[in-house]
Amino acid sequence: MTFLKLLFRNRLAALGAVVLGIILLLVIVTPILPLQDPDVTNTADRFMTPFSDGHLLGTDHLGRDLLSRLLYGTRVSLAVGIFAALIAGTIGSAIGIVAGYFGGRTDNIIMRGVDMLMAFPYILLALAIVAALGPGLFNALIAVAAVNIPFFARNIRGVTVSLAGREFIDAARLAGMGHTRIILTELLPNVLSTIVIAMSTTVGWMILETAGLSFLGLGSQPPQADLGSMLGEARSQLITDPHTSIIPGIMIFLIVMSINLLGDGVRDALDPRLRSGALTRPRAQTLVNRGGDVPADDRKGILNLQRLSTQFHIGPRIYKAVNEVSLYVNPGECLGVIGESGSGKSVTALSVMGLVPSPPGVVTGGAVRYEGEDLLDMPFERLRQKRGDNVAYIFQDPLSTLHPLYRVGDQLKEAISVHHKVSDKELDRRAIELLKSVRIPNPESRIRNYPHEMSGGMRQRVGIAMALANDPEVIIADEPTTALDVTVQAQILSLLDDLRRERGLAIVFITHDFGVVAQLCDRVAVMYGGRIVEEGTTADILDKPAHPYTARLMACVPELGGGKRELAAIPGLPPIVSDLPPGCAFAPRCDKATEACTQGEIALEGGTHKVRCIHPEEEVA
Ligand code: ADP
Ligand code: MG
Repeated sequence: MTFLKLLFRNRLAALGAVVLGIILLLVIVTPILPLQDPDVTNTADRFMTPFSDGHLLGTDHLGRDLLSRLLYGTRVSLAVGIFAALIAGTIGSAIGIVAGYFGGRTDNIIMRGVDMLMAFPYILLALAIVAALGPGLFNALIAVAAVNIPFFARNIRGVTVSLAGREFIDAARLAGMGHTRIILTELLPNVLSTIVIAMSTTVGWMILETAGLSFLGLGSQPPQADLGSMLGEARSQLITDPHTSIIPGIMIFLIVMSINLLGDGVRDALDPRLRSGALTRPRAQTLVNRGGDVPADDRKGILNLQRLSTQFHIGPRIYKAVNEVSLYVNPGECLGVIGESGSGKSVTALSVMGLVPSPPGVVTGGAVRYEGEDLLDMPFERLRQKRGDNVAYIFQDPLSTLHPLYRVGDQLKEAISVHHKVSDKELDRRAIELLKSVRIPNPESRIRNYPHEMSGGMRQRVGIAMALANDPEVIIADEPTTALDVTVQAQILSLLDDLRRERGLAIVFITHDFGVVAQLCDRVAVMYGGRIVEEGTTADILDKPAHPYTARLMACVPELGGGKRELAAIPGLPPIVSDLPPGCAFAPRCDKATEACTQGEIALEGGTHKVRCIHPEEEVA
């Protein structure tokens, strides 16, 4: 269902499907249409032009009805092309799967054979096969199928090789399954979509090849019509009676084009990477569509978010991922943003530099100011210069943010050279210095390492070094230590803490761990369901959490040496931000909730310690 929806969202694929559908329908009903016999000659009526009496598309050099020949010919061409694709796809895929699954010598022998087939120009090979078997449609079909087998074998082998090494195949082997069973139940379903894609993109090609053989007189034999032989017979009258070649020509064009458009659409719709992200590439900068007023600058901090709202518009649904969030951070200060996963922390962070993917992301309100300058309506070129140079990011998983094929030194140097013109020697020096500053031992040799040669902790240090590369004023760290073990985490935290003291960095530190907040942050904002529910200094919040959510979140943290106590998980799940309940989003999970909690907007109130709750655990000052 979603497959069809995705397929038809692609206009060209839909057009292809419609054209192909009409042609298929026509050739299916051809035998019951009131057509003349396609093979009956009538030399008296030779070369009649289209729209003549009794011959809608005219007649050919033997006076045969062109409409009838066209429809019957299309039937033959389509059938041969599709059968050839099925045969080539089945045999080629079987060869590819066997070669890829068994590997080693089997693979070598099979693939060298396939390579030998591939070494011939395919049309020569097809001609040789037909010459050996004799002309005729069936032999042309065999020839076209045979020359396309290597294509499928190569394609499918490549996919299979990467699958055969995966754990689920090992697991199947450990479970005692035989080779045939593994191939049929484990491998085949996984390569099936590749096979379908390869077939749908090559059917058109095979129809052309069959037509080519028939054109040369090696395919369908007179009087039987197929599109290629119709073209071949009309060749000598190309100038005097062009309609005899134009008509089959247009049909070939329509068939091949519609199949290719549809095939491309099928490929896009089946590709899981394209399926999730619609068929669009995100823009370079998040779409900003601020309906209401832009809040006036309240001149707080170096980075200042005021009533920022970011939504995802997916079909008819609107996900309010970030809902009127106000935050600021001063130079040399560390602001913690804490909340369960899905509470909107990352989207808040990405909105700052316009990095939320659009579509579907839209910033729908508020302002983000860096040193008083609104980043949301900044021209892209200027924003790009600020990215990394003034505001830098550290992400959670350094293995996915570092390029796997470049040495870490080169990636560091690239981060610098994007923003500053510096000589190569100076770049080398800076890269080594950066690695030293994040306490990587032997930086001189480490810069020549690839990301996979480093441990998780080392990679995260490289991530931090990259963020520091241009001496930014603000660093936004999105759960940078979540993937690390506690000892490495402690080292990274103390490193960040030193850096901010030495360089006066402002840090926005996103986490779901109160332990980390206690170690590093001066102030904390607690997020829930896309909103800030509590905000204050770390000491205030840790000592006297006011919002029941904050209190429950802290009760989830085990204390080392704190004696045995029951860890209180918060019941229920975080809300889905596409239909938030009115009032407090936490009310359904809160044991203090009353009628009033679900009645309407609850304001974030207080002085330095603010809370969005009408029954706070503690009164805030
Ligand atoms: P977290 O607090 O764990 O970092 P996020 O900020 O990543 O949470 O996500 C907040 C909400 O936004 C979630 O409900 C998530 O489903 C939604 N969301 C995030 N990214 C996208 C996206 N690219 N498309 C649609 N929804 C998204
Ligand atoms: Mg996140």
